[in-house]
Amino acid sequence: SAKSSGRGTYKLFDVAMHAQLQTHQQMKITMRDALAKGEFELHYQPLVSLESRCVSCCEALLRWRHPDRGMIAPSEFIPIAEETGLIVPIGEWILGEACRQAARWPERVSVAVNLSPVQFKHRNLVRAVAKALSATRLDPARLQLEITETVLLDESEHNLELLQDLRRLGVKIAMDDFGTGYSSLGYLRSFPFDKIKVDQAFVRDLPHGKESLAIVKAVAGLGQSLGMTTSVEGVETEDQLAVVDSEGFNEVQGYLFSRPLPAAEISKLIAAGSL
Ligand code: C2E
Ligand code: MG
Ligand code: MG
Ligand code: MG
Repeated sequence: SAKSSGRGTYKLFDVAMHAQLQTHQQMKITMRDALAKGEFELHYQPLVSLESRCVSCCEALLRWRHPDRGMIAPSEFIPIAEETGLIVPIGEWILGEACRQAARWPERVSVAVNLSPVQFKHRNLVRAVAKALSATRLDPARLQLEITETVLLDESEHNLELLQDLRRLGVKIAMDDFGTGYSSLGYLRSFPFDKIKVDQAFVRDLPHGKESLAIVKAVAGLGQSLGMTTSVEGVETEDQLAVVDSEGFNEVQGYLFSRPLPAAEISKLIAAGSL
């Protein structure tokens, strides 16, 4: 009967939930030692300058090489790292590691590091960034910190000051995933970002999506008038590239040029010249 099959479904759902909870718990536990065991690695994805067709920046993207589960994507474990606070020490490691790699690249290539809102709430952030820069002697102007607007949502007064403090170190600040939040425009007025990265959601249905096209056009103009570098993430096709190029964006990032690559491979790609 419907009733019994309903109950059966419920049971199955229960089992699945239990399994999910268990992996969540297990991840929490194994993550504690993952940093010390050297299981985290950074992959790098290039941002290509549309003017020179050369790599202008590489974004550091975190990966966890789990002993049993293989490579795990950040969307699966960063929320857990944020929940436990482990993102703070992991984030410090990321800053140091990314700066160390970038110091080996040609001077024209910067490195971009994503910051979690949890790192942002931690009082040690400015010191951690300063430490990574001094330890690696990387020119601060070659470090870009990517933040999403969730960072600015609460305590905005305090967070704006923090952004100013970071800026005073000489680093660049980029607004990531632009357009996905509630008040992207408002934040552009309260803080002079160095760069805007349009979220890949607006690129996906280019060149035909009328709404996306209108938004992409508007952001290109906005960035230009505000003196910010404009970039777009998630460019996968030549048609998408053509739109972004004709709208006057400065940089693109996406599988069309390259997927995120391990450090050794990204160095080769940078050395190869234009893409
Ligand atoms: P994000 O910062 O917006 O990074 C861009 C994501 O889009 C990356 O996924 C990248 O691999 C993916 N991507 C790039 N080009 C394309 C494309 O052409 N097509 C498609 N479909 N995807 C593309 P990834 O590496 O899985 O990272 C996901 C998110 O996890 C990042 O989004 C960022 O929010 C977070 N994340 C990654 N690394 C770190 C980190 O070191 N620290 C922190 N706090 N967050 C990180
Ligand atoms: Mg990013
Ligand atoms: Mg992004
Ligand atoms: Mg994104």
